[in-house]
Amino acid sequence: MDSEKIKYLQENYNLPSYRCQQLKEAFFHKHISEYTNITTFPKELRGRLQEEVPVLTTSLYKIYASQEKNAYKALLQLKDKRLVETVLLNPKPGLWSCCISSQVGCVLGCTFCATGTMGLARNLSSEEITDQVLFWQFFIKEEKIPARLSNVVYMGMGEPFHNKKEVFKSLRELMNPETFHLGARHLSVSTSGLVPAIYEFTEQFPQVNLAISLHAPNNELRVKLMPINKPYPLEKLMAAIEHYIEATNRKVFIEYIMLKEENDSLVLADQLADLLKKVSKSHLLHVNLIVYNQTDSEHIETPKEKARKFKNRLQEKGLSATIRKNLGRDIDGACGQLALKEPGRTTYFQSTNFVEVI
Ligand code: SF4
Repeated sequence: MDSEKIKYLQENYNLPSYRCQQLKEAFFHKHISEYTNITTFPKELRGRLQEEVPVLTTSLYKIYASQEKNAYKALLQLKDKRLVETVLLNPKPGLWSCCISSQVGCVLGCTFCATGTMGLARNLSSEEITDQVLFWQFFIKEEKIPARLSNVVYMGMGEPFHNKKEVFKSLRELMNPETFHLGARHLSVSTSGLVPAIYEFTEQFPQVNLAISLHAPNNELRVKLMPINKPYPLEKLMAAIEHYIEATNRKVFIEYIMLKEENDSLVLADQLADLLKKVSKSHLLHVNLIVYNQTDSEHIETPKEKARKFKNRLQEKGLSATIRKNLGRDIDGACGQLALKEPGRTTYFQSTNFVEVI
């Protein structure tokens, strides 16, 4: 459900505009998930809409909860039966944030990424993207979680800027005061570094947060981990980051997955610090070190102690850096450590303490 679908309902069911307002109020403010529960609507109309125009473009296939109930993961089925994953996280009291997918699979083939092994099946439409947010808003209401969804991050399956048109449309919908009405500063997009799209994003969404999946401080290593580094090497990527900061004066989050004996040495920490310190407002960079979530790839996670030393070295060099807190078992790790091996099974959940709740 989004503003376009409301318009469709208005035109195809001859709804007067006050009825459209009632629908918006029901879905986007009260988070009522079924037409049948919109009591301000005539019963016959509720029944017809329920039959003919599903509220969500997705249906719930499976949902899992972490044991501490501070992270949930849903597998949503699209109309064409493909599945996407989306995650709800409670990193601190009162703050709930969701991580959404922008594509089914991904073509960019980062070697540490489970989604990358799937290849790209297809892009999601703007409505399929925003429906993941609406799904979690309904879920929060149904589960009686005493908080609202406050943040949305595009860090699930897929490279958001590889589906730029629909992702940009979905950002506008999430900020639309008539529907989701989320503040730009509560939205974040994470990219592996599609440089031209970073410039467009900066131009069109200067208030939306930008995260860069960096994962290596030199071209030689980065190209091995992320083939996207070939067309867009670090020089181009760092120039785009510099431009974003210049234009917006906003923070940029640098994501760095820690891979044992690959990118986690102190020599590389020094290189990373040198690279980032070259940015003129480097105090606006924040490095998120991410504990690797072991998939079927050849990579191994860095031991905690080593990750701590890496972080300390960055801090000694004057950078802001933290090791990202694990919730369940780090599902919010950079873009796409999510993958579906077959319906109902994910690599992610094979190694987690999540339990199925529905
Ligand atoms: S890390 Fe992101 S860009 Fe790279 S393959 Fe995975 S989903 Fe695609």
